[in-house]
Amino acid sequence: MKTVIANGWVVEPEAQSVVQTDVLIEDDRIVAVGDVGAVADCRIDATGCYVTPGLVDIHVHFRDPGFPEKETIASGARAAAAGGITSVVCMPNTYPTVDEPGVVEYVLRTAAEQGIVRVHTTASITKGLKGKEITEMPALAKAGAVTFTDDGKSVMDPVILLEAFKWAARLGLPITSHCEDHNLVRAGAINRGEVSKALGDVGIPSLAEELVVARDILFAEHTGARLHLQHVTTAGGVQLIREAKARGVRVTGEATPHHFSVTDQLVLTQGALAKVNPPLRTQADVDAVVAGLQDGTLDVIATDHAPHTWDEKQRGLQQAPFGFVGLETSVGMTFTHLVHTGKLSVFDAIKKMTVVPAQIMGLPLPRLHPGAVADITVINPNLEWEVDTARFYTRAKHSPLAGTRLRGKAVQTFVGGRWIYSHERGILE
Ligand SMILES: [Zn+2]
Repeated sequence: MKTVIANGWVVEPEAQSVVQTDVLIEDDRIVAVGDVGAVADCRIDATGCYVTPGLVDIHVHFRDPGFPEKETIASGARAAAAGGITSVVCMPNTYPTVDEPGVVEYVLRTAAEQGIVRVHTTASITKGLKGKEITEMPALAKAGAVTFTDDGKSVMDPVILLEAFKWAARLGLPITSHCEDHNLVRAGAINRGEVSKALGDVGIPSLAEELVVARDILFAEHTGARLHLQHVTTAGGVQLIREAKARGVRVTGEATPHHFSVTDQLVLTQGALAKVNPPLRTQADVDAVVAGLQDGTLDVIATDHAPHTWDEKQRGLQQAPFGFVGLETSVGMTFTHLVHTGKLSVFDAIKKMTVVPAQIMGLPLPRLHPGAVADITVINPNLEWEVDTARFYTRAKHSPLAGTRLRGKAVQTFVGGRWIYSHERGILE
């Protein structure tokens, strides 16, 4: 079976090159990039679209094991495919926690059976994410965990954290940090500022993030381990990373589509649907996150896709859980808010969604050249569409972005040469 993706703009993000041509796929590989004529059994017209290496999202919650009512590996993987994402890295805050090799193996086995995209997993730094006892990191790495994180929380005990950084350095894997000091977050549900005051919420101060960003940078500097900072949201956090990079610390930073595009004002209209951790911040913070993406301080765009049930999100600002979905809107948000506004080149945007996150997590690098594995995303940068949550593949059919108009969408997705998603036909089983 030969498939040609014809006449698209083939993007090589690192070389900053784009060429209008064809990509020929045979079995699981790309066999030719160039004018291939009429040799294929199947022809997909990509005129006016970017043909990019398959997108890599290193921050998702698929809730399996433990919370199938929120998401499963099968449903999460389909949401990824519909968002143009061909590889994901799952967070360990499942039940049981991914804190033993058996759970890593369960996730990877289930993914192999049910996932239509490539699913990798993290493992936790502490047992049960309790922050008290370190996991057996070498055994978890051996089982296939790509990084260690207590995402959702920060490890507050510096003795445990120091040990974890030392193990990470020895294993050659990064520590991945959710940066929030528990003592400062307390009962806050949203960013501490005018909106929290108006709504009577105690608020989560920027300092909660900045303290842990600064601390974890010091741990990376002291141990030589690599550090990846998840969902950076504050101007202060971005500046700390910028300074650390300037003095050679091995630190990378991540931004989510919601943190580079919308502010805590969204809570006024969307309520708990817009409750997320770390919280949506102010316009000055959004501008700082964008500046961080522009100057390379922030290396990665990742979604923090965090599905919950509708009922859970209806419990009010205080009681509803943190988090909302992002896999199916990530490309649209990135093109609408960064590329079409001229804030980020298409090369930089694609780089931060493909090769750079893959490099950080030690995954195979997605490439578009003959011989490469055919993980490919086709993006129509000018397709205008409205976020219709009823059409989502994730189990969480709600989002604070529902009804938003976006410009740019993933329209075809290939994993290992298999055509798994088409904008016209949906998920292709
Ligand atoms: Zn997190």
